[in-house]
Amino acid sequence: MSSARVPDATDPMAVAVVVARDGRLPVGAVEAVAEAGGRVVVVGSGAEDAALALTGVTHARWADTGFRPAALAAALAVVVARDTLVVLPASPDGRDLAPRLAAATGRPLLARAIAARVVHGDPPGVCAQVSRVDDRMLVPVDVRGPAVVTLAVGGRPAGHTGASADALGSPDASYEALDLGGPLDDPAEPELVALLEPDLQTMDLADASRVVAGGAGLVAGLDDHRATGVFDLLVGVAAALGGSAGATRVATDAGWTGYERQIGTTGVTVDPDLYVALGVSGAAQHTGGLGAPRHVVSVNTDPSCPMTAMADLGLVTDAHALLVELARRLGVDDTGGPEVARA
Ligand SMILES: Cc1cc2nc3c(=O)[nH]c(=O)nc-3n(C[C@H](O)[C@H](O)[C@H](O)COP(=O)(O)OP(=O)(O)OC[C@H]3O[C@@H](n4cnc5c(N)ncnc54)[C@H](O)[C@@H]3O)c2cc1C
Repeated sequence: MSSARVPDATDPMAVAVVVARDGRLPVGAVEAVAEAGGRVVVVGSGAEDAALALTGVTHARWADTGFRPAALAAALAVVVARDTLVVLPASPDGRDLAPRLAAATGRPLLARAIAARVVHGDPPGVCAQVSRVDDRMLVPVDVRGPAVVTLAVGGRPAGHTGASADALGSPDASYEALDLGGPLDDPAEPELVALLEPDLQTMDLADASRVVAGGAGLVAGLDDHRATGVFDLLVGVAAALGGSAGATRVATDAGWTGYERQIGTTGVTVDPDLYVALGVSGAAQHTGGLGAPRHVVSVNTDPSCPMTAMADLGLVTDAHALLVELARRLGVDDTGGPEVARA
């Protein structure tokens, strides 16, 4: 692979720090890389594969470090010492590492930003928009000097292009292994007893890399009791597909599922690799919480609804019948009982 355009060594720069797990990127990784103008350090496990899977990279460095956050923060402090802006996705690992990295570098932490950029000056600084009050308020923050920022998943405004957008998607991206100086260890590091994967049925929807969502069309013609059974089934089918169940506000307002499942401007913002919409019209208030899913599948009887218009794959069919068939093929218990099947 060839070398990327090398910025002037005195330029204040931005870099993303991304923690991979077994080569899997966390949600929000691509956004963080974009916000940093394409420069990224990938650590964790399977870091090289994860770095190669990133899009929008101009210069990627990677190191297989495992995840010992205290030791990792100390090692990374040296690597990012010259970067004015350090951006981490607000994924679980990103939220764990960012405050440690801020402490190790002696920088302020701006948590849950939707945008951040380097401000040129003497000294160079960071300007960010941080999201507060359950995403109902955006607060501008200016820091004179370097800062560490976590970027809210899916919150980056569409079309917002970060530090050096002209470099995004450059065919000249360069990749290099990074030597962080031997096995990372820190006597103060808590002992890792076991690493438990999140329960797909109850995990925070914002952290899900696959989301299967239901809307009013999934339960068309059913009463509230039977509709609740269908949404219970949706949770099981989503988990069998390696994902979490989401819903529209129509579904949460009706009480068919909990409010923590609601995706949209007044609900959770998600940014999955795969978003499957079952009987969802695709209203702006719903898609406003969708981030930039890599793949969208819409199942709807209306071939021209907005959700299908924005989908990579549109299936024009009855969403409930499709869900029941998926449950049968995936061996998912019909937790809603026999009433789930359409009468
Ligand atoms: C201030 C405000 C904030 C809001 N915030 C949110 C929010 O955060 N999240 C949110 O989701 N909404 C929100 N809404 C509501 C939003 O405007 C829409 O009303 C809502 O998203 C529509 O939900 P839906 O797609 O489930 O239902 P509908 O709009 O009723 O659409 C149902 C869809 O199902 C299809 N359909 C019907 N029968 C079938 C079938 N048998 N099989 C397959 N498809 C079928 C229809 O063609 C249609 O496309 C908000 C509204 C306001 C005013």
